[in-house]
Amino acid sequence: MTRKPIIGLLGGGQLGQMLCQAAAPLGITVAVLDAEDCPAKQINHNKLHVTGSFKDPEKIRLLASRCDVLTVEIEHVDTGVLEEVATTGVEVPTADGKGKTMKKVPVHPSYKTIRLIQDKYQQKEYLAKNGLPVAPQMAIESGDGRVESLKLAASRFGFPFMLKASKGSYDGRGNFKVRSPEDFKTAVEEMGDYLYAEKWVPFEMELAVMVMRTEDNNGRLKAVYPYPVVETIHEDSICTKVFYPPRNVSEEVKEKAQKVACDVVASLWGRGVFAVEMFLVDRQVIVNEIAPRPHNSGHLTMEMVPQMSQFKAQLHAVLDEVPENGLTLTPRVPSAIMLNILGGAKPTSHDRFVDLANGSFDQYTDVYVHLYGKESKPGRKIGHVTATGFSSVDQLSSRISPLIKCMDEIRA
Ligand code: ATP
Ligand code: MG
Ligand code: MG
Repeated sequence: MTRKPIIGLLGGGQLGQMLCQAAAPLGITVAVLDAEDCPAKQINHNKLHVTGSFKDPEKIRLLASRCDVLTVEIEHVDTGVLEEVATTGVEVPTADGKGKTMKKVPVHPSYKTIRLIQDKYQQKEYLAKNGLPVAPQMAIESGDGRVESLKLAASRFGFPFMLKASKGSYDGRGNFKVRSPEDFKTAVEEMGDYLYAEKWVPFEMELAVMVMRTEDNNGRLKAVYPYPVVETIHEDSICTKVFYPPRNVSEEVKEKAQKVACDVVASLWGRGVFAVEMFLVDRQVIVNEIAPRPHNSGHLTMEMVPQMSQFKAQLHAVLDEVPENGLTLTPRVPSAIMLNILGGAKPTSHDRFVDLANGSFDQYTDVYVHLYGKESKPGRKIGHVTATGFSSVDQLSSRISPLIKCMDEIRA
């Protein structure tokens, strides 16, 4: 076996941790740039890790100098430096150790993709330009013009509409539902600058599709491979549950969702896995947003598609070693449900949920607990549980209803 390229990872949260879990048995080394005690480093020790922020240009250069390819577990990174290391390169010692030379380090997915996705407004403008379905949106003026601009948004979209931060948001932090003109003042005070308004989508359901994207060394798309579509439940704008298959959704809609997700991902640049979040409304799918990395909606692939979980897919895609023949993303179980473990009022609030989950499997149901080693804070994602069943998703849901009820109580 030849030496596998070393992957440098920006960000060592739970996604990075699960990426490292997938990498170890494949003999792949992952060097992580994040804090010393981040979840990824808790389970993966090596001398190549860099301690610091994934937003710090110097630290990104240092990581790049130690690796053969860079990838991300979070999109809020410095794409200027990523472009620099991919195009100009980083300084490294020459083979004889006497001088310095430049080494180019590819970034996957491309810094272009990460840059586009970082800005949710630009991301959707781009999708609309490419003929992909998105909700109508408009940029909100910065500074003093904001309230006038909100009035215009209200006259275009009606109430309620969604006000969103273009950059830096996650788990709904950065979204404000504007219900009436009385909300304008609070919205402006709470939301800062660089905002956009989006028409409210009265969706029946939210769907998501993970897609693996492969590309040759010249940046030409090789293939996009969709995972099965899942139903995602968001409460207070944060994902709480994921169901496979989506409940009461026709095959036609599922195929449409996979097709739209593949078209979205084909329009981007670079290798890796991507999540495409969508709304289902009147049998049409509308793209909400893209994540250029493994995603909460794909956690259940670890048990549902064990031959190629979203984390394995990220590794194989980034290293360009996806088996073109024989790759299947077909689930090995007929149903699966993922429940996020969100921190409750007290640091120990979720303990009873974990105890219950650990005792919840039976001959029809498997239950897998994943704790990330993060400090518990109210509403913070600190772990998840995946249940898989040998029957329908509705039967699985009723079998694990005590678990669902327990998590809902802790979150409340
Ligand atoms: P993530 O953690 O997924 O990155 P985020 O902070 O980027 O979240 P969004 O995905 O924009 O936030 O929105 C979070 C949730 O808010 C959506 O999944 C959906 O439930 C709701 N939402 C967002 N936009 C709209 C809309 N235009 N109409 C109705 N509901 C919406
Ligand atoms: Mg987002
Ligand atoms: Mg989202």
